[in-house]
Amino acid sequence: MKWFVSQDVIKAPIQDILERGSGQKVRRCYQCGKCSAGCPMSFKMEHLPNQIIRMIQLGMEKEVLSSQTIWLCASCLACTARCPREIDIAEIMDFLRRRAYLKRVKPKLDAKVLLFNKVFLWNVEWFGRLYEIALIGMFNMFSLEFFKDFSIAPKMFLMRKIGLFPALKINRKEIREIFKRSHKVGLDQKDK
Ligand code: SF4
Ligand code: SF4
Repeated sequence: MKWFVSQDVIKAPIQDILERGSGQKVRRCYQCGKCSAGCPMSFKMEHLPNQIIRMIQLGMEKEVLSSQTIWLCASCLACTARCPREIDIAEIMDFLRRRAYLKRVKPKLDAKVLLFNKVFLWNVEWFGRLYEIALIGMFNMFSLEFFKDFSIAPKMFLMRKIGLFPALKINRKEIREIFKRSHKVGLDQKDK
């Protein structure tokens, strides 16, 4: 895909905002591509991690925030570990998700990745750690695909990839407190 990038776009402040908000020096990136080469989600991404970094350098905030890439990132840190310029790309993806969420920008290709992210966080907030059956049930219900992936559930259960019950030895109160405080920090940053 080709973009026309005007002078006004290049002067847009997203790079400065991101560097202040995440502490990551985006301008240090020299586009070696090692982050993208090691990313396990790159096969699904609309823009590769190094392309996202380049778009930030060019001030293309709208395109970056509406890219489904930021929602597909699994926060595995492979890119962060590989970057020769010591840029924490996973932290940048996290920052961009927060910003897109606060600015109510939806991914333009597939809005369901946003729904999945929300349901995932509700799940962790409510059960203290991921409870897969509830995650699948809620996601299918809200996305109106009621029987999606149901056929593979027995196999996953037999392989102990999913459990019938949520984890018990978890201090749910503490986890909810973390969510409460994070939510407050997010609201404080909303207009910055
Ligand atoms: S690995 Fe680091 S320097 Fe290389 S493209 Fe990715 S962010 Fe840029
Ligand atoms: S943290 Fe995200 S962008 Fe980085 S390698 Fe993992 S999935 Fe890819």
